[in-house]
Amino acid sequence: MRHLRAASDVASARFSLEERFAAVQAEARRSFSRSDSNSGTIFCLVRMMNEEIPNLTAFDEAALDEAFALVERQARGDAAALDGDAAVEAFRLKWLGTKQGRLKEVSARWLKVAPPEAKKALGMRFNALKPVVEGLLDAALGAGPNDAALAAEAIDITLPGTRRLTGAEHPITRTLNEITSVFAALGYSVGVGPEVETDFYNFECMNFPPGHPARDTQDTLVVAGQERRPQRDRLLLRTHTSPVQMRTMESQPPPVRIVIPGKVHRNDAADATHSPIFHQVEGLCVDTNITFSDLKGTLDHAMKALFGSAVKTRFFPSFFPFTEPSADVQISCIFCGGKGCRKCKNSGWIELLGCGMVDPAVFAFAAEKQPGYDPKKISGFAFGMGVERIAMMKYGVSEIGQFYAGDMRFLGQFA
Ligand SMILES: [Zn+2]
Repeated sequence: MRHLRAASDVASARFSLEERFAAVQAEARRSFSRSDSNSGTIFCLVRMMNEEIPNLTAFDEAALDEAFALVERQARGDAAALDGDAAVEAFRLKWLGTKQGRLKEVSARWLKVAPPEAKKALGMRFNALKPVVEGLLDAALGAGPNDAALAAEAIDITLPGTRRLTGAEHPITRTLNEITSVFAALGYSVGVGPEVETDFYNFECMNFPPGHPARDTQDTLVVAGQERRPQRDRLLLRTHTSPVQMRTMESQPPPVRIVIPGKVHRNDAADATHSPIFHQVEGLCVDTNITFSDLKGTLDHAMKALFGSAVKTRFFPSFFPFTEPSADVQISCIFCGGKGCRKCKNSGWIELLGCGMVDPAVFAFAAEKQPGYDPKKISGFAFGMGVERIAMMKYGVSEIGQFYAGDMRFLGQFA
């Protein structure tokens, strides 16, 4: 019987089916006088196997899951060991036989003793187990999966799919790219530089000497713990993209035509039109015989390209340390066409950017590394504009914070 018990262990891989049959037949011969009867052998096999169905003592979900998983494992183990048509037929009788099949036994024994409240859960598991066993038989017979198995894995292609949101450029990125592309069409290349800069590049070489009051106009965020360094080596968050002007001139001789888009930082309190982090596009053009007329023509063209050909520009004297002479550029109000409205404070003009001819002092710093920037031989202009301000005008946004809030209801309008 020790041998028989081992043979009846359906999960056991140690005995082939023939060995099991031989053992069962031997037992059948001892138990039944009809020793030659094949049905007797199978009947005996079924009786043996059915004894492995445990009696259910608990009917909670976990216990039912475990019990059904055990039966399914046994069926799969049986099916995996099948070889030959006779074995397949034996499998069919053992598991799906209408009188003594194991499923019949499971249904009869477990359902019978189940308390009424557990019958539904039990029935559902039984209904799921049956197509699995039938599928195993079909697979053994060389057929494909049965209808129930197919139905279980069917996909309803008429159901609505998961909709993915369309990706789109952030309005700031889009505006930045628009400005850049206007100048790219004029032959400008694009330059970038570090956001953590030295005092030298951010201020000194841009003609903001140490202690110069112009530094106070750019409330600067400095990196802590820099006191031991010489002033020009101390690190800070760049307050404008101008340092990239110098980095570009140091790396290449004239002529230069470059636009510099990028993020800048100032210790400004956030309000409707200010943010401590914002974006600038700066431009630099250096060559022989560059004049203020070139600057005016370039910026007039750029403003028309950005805001429409009806836009007019005008230049007012101003001051920036790194340009001389310097100018503020105003464009005719794009909202009222110059008649005067609330947006332009009834002036008909909107101030948009700063510009000027590059100060010879800046060229002198560049000439330390690139002698070609001799202020006696070359000249150039520079300009800079705030990207947020232009984006707010173009898209009618009144709160700068909306660009950074990450609110999809706002950003979705630009998709
Ligand atoms: Zn206006």
